[in-house]
Amino acid sequence: MRGQQISMPVQVESIIDKLIENGFEAYAVGGCVRDTLLGREPGDWDITTSASPWQVKSIFRRTIDTGIQHGTVTVMIGKNGYEVTTYRIDGEYEDGRHPKKVAFTSELLEDLKRRDFTINAMAYSHKTGIVDAFGGMEDLKQRRIRCVGDAMERFSEDALRILRAIRFSAQLDFFIEEKTYASIMKIAPGIAKVSKERIQAELTKLLQSDHPLKIKMVYETGISRYVSPAFAGLCWQSFQIPAGLSAEKYVRWGALLRLAGPQTAIQVLKDLKLDNDTINRVRVLAEWADKKLIAQEPSLRRAMSKMLPEVWDVLIQLNGCGDEVRRLTDEIRKRGDCLDLRHLAVGGQDLIEAGIRPGKEVGQLLGQLLEQVLECPESNDKKILLELAGRWRESSGCGSC
Ligand code: ATP
Ligand code: MG
Repeated sequence: MRGQQISMPVQVESIIDKLIENGFEAYAVGGCVRDTLLGREPGDWDITTSASPWQVKSIFRRTIDTGIQHGTVTVMIGKNGYEVTTYRIDGEYEDGRHPKKVAFTSELLEDLKRRDFTINAMAYSHKTGIVDAFGGMEDLKQRRIRCVGDAMERFSEDALRILRAIRFSAQLDFFIEEKTYASIMKIAPGIAKVSKERIQAELTKLLQSDHPLKIKMVYETGISRYVSPAFAGLCWQSFQIPAGLSAEKYVRWGALLRLAGPQTAIQVLKDLKLDNDTINRVRVLAEWADKKLIAQEPSLRRAMSKMLPEVWDVLIQLNGCGDEVRRLTDEIRKRGDCLDLRHLAVGGQDLIEAGIRPGKEVGQLLGQLLEQVLECPESNDKKILLELAGRWRESSGCGSC
């Protein structure tokens, strides 16, 4: 494959050139080479070099010690940083996850050998062309994920790789080569040794990919049991993604978890240490998953008042609501109907000034007034609402109007 030119950002070219000018070897490596060959936009550009971290630091003016003990120095060009990592051999793995120590080497091939999959183990420079020691180009052509070397050995070193294999298969729409797949099934219990944060990062990328339904492989390989009991119990067969669904994190997790009910959904997300914002949004999607949304303005306004506007848009998509619900949603928004206490024509202070004792009653009345306005948006008027509040109090707050 020598001779094939691939284009790289000028900053990456300049870093590689500078290292070569200084007598070292340097290449773009890993995901950026893979993605460029596939015509995909690489997320970031990693550079691998024979120069030691200290040599890298002496060559470039602005650097950050990102993971210097692992050989990684970030070279800053303008506002952008590029990770430059010294050729490395990972020592023996001690806990199914971390190498005991890493050793630097002057051999590119040694560095490529430690990488997980053949498609991730190619290097490139304009000077040398593509370095493909393990058949990565052929695997790209066959759309195949295959370990570098013996799959059992590579997965035993680091069990996270079994989830990476499935994640790449979903992102690239590749199949997993037979021996690699069989080894994933054998190593599945090893996922118990991987931190929940790392598992979550892989599952999130899988769900956010173009082929999220490939999550089924996490079940079919037997990995799910070692993720969490709640996750293992999900009814993944009913998982569906409507066409055009946003790839935002909460949306994809919501699509997976909504039918499990709020309690299970929250349990899964907590097990996997997702952030509270995601948990809260998914909770809403799960709470409303089995509710029939009636295409009538008051009931839609009441539902809309319970969540953020963007969550509502996702909810009606996931719940498969028809055109009428969408049309009414647009109308409610165009008119600017009040949907929350912030937009109510009276506030707590107004009620207090009208003679209501500060305290619980103020909050209760505001809640009742909001209900009234959701039912009938024309009544969102200070005078009308104060009058109503007064009447309710006289009739000892029975709430009818
Ligand atoms: P993306 O950034 O799109 O998720 P990537 O291939 O760049 O994909 P990274 O996690 O950024 O993945 O890792 C960069 C490279 O480092 C990989 O392409 C691979 O060569 C190597 N690598 C990463 N994680 C591992 C691992 N757990 N075991 C072996 N090699 C790995
Ligand atoms: Mg990357």
